[in-house]
Amino acid sequence: MCIAGAACSGKGTQCELIKERYNLVHLSTGDMLRDEVKARSELGLEAEKFMNSGLLVPDQLIINIVKVRLQQPDCAERGWLLDGFPRTAVQAKTMIDEGIVPDVFLSLDVPDEALIERVTGRRLDPETGRIYHLKFDPPSDDIKDRLIQRSDDTEEKIKVRLAQHHQNISAIEELFASQMSRVDGNAPKTTVFSTVCLAIDQIDDI
Ligand code: AMP
Repeated sequence: MCIAGAACSGKGTQCELIKERYNLVHLSTGDMLRDEVKARSELGLEAEKFMNSGLLVPDQLIINIVKVRLQQPDCAERGWLLDGFPRTAVQAKTMIDEGIVPDVFLSLDVPDEALIERVTGRRLDPETGRIYHLKFDPPSDDIKDRLIQRSDDTEEKIKVRLAQHHQNISAIEELFASQMSRVDGNAPKTTVFSTVCLAIDQIDDI
């Protein structure tokens, strides 16, 4: 299956819950790219330039990474959950041309104002990898000084990413219209997850 949603729409949280319940291989293209950047690979260095400006990386770069990963046996054995891909009409069309079609395509809807508040308050603990929010999930005093803000989590950059998201998602929703399930993401995570499960459980052989 695929899951789409703007930055901070709760995609990551829903993916954790989905993969735990349905045992799918979770493939987050954002995480895959950040791993490449961390490893200072050629591909990572190329991707970093775009990611640091809040822009999408070139289609062909991410399409190649995803195609290679989907060929691993675990994806065929357990099924896959693509998180953050496809993000453009070109990526969506390539999937269809290659016969990579999800059983269900979840699209999380959250109003822009709520997303901006979620993104700008988000902080990462580099020692544990845990994500906090300064207002909704504040860190304790002893760790708050070591938390960092992702370079693309500023208001200026989230606005660029949101504009891009709106531009792309309508074309993607059209291409995957028969698999599409739009989910209200502006609710507590357990409520969102119940809606997500209803959509997934409609698939016959899950
Ligand atoms: P995410 O963690 O999903 O917000 O992704 C972080 C960044 O990785 C994005 O802002 C893009 O620069 C890049 N990225 C992730 N997935 C894609 C994709 N499918 N197409 C292009 N760029 C992507």
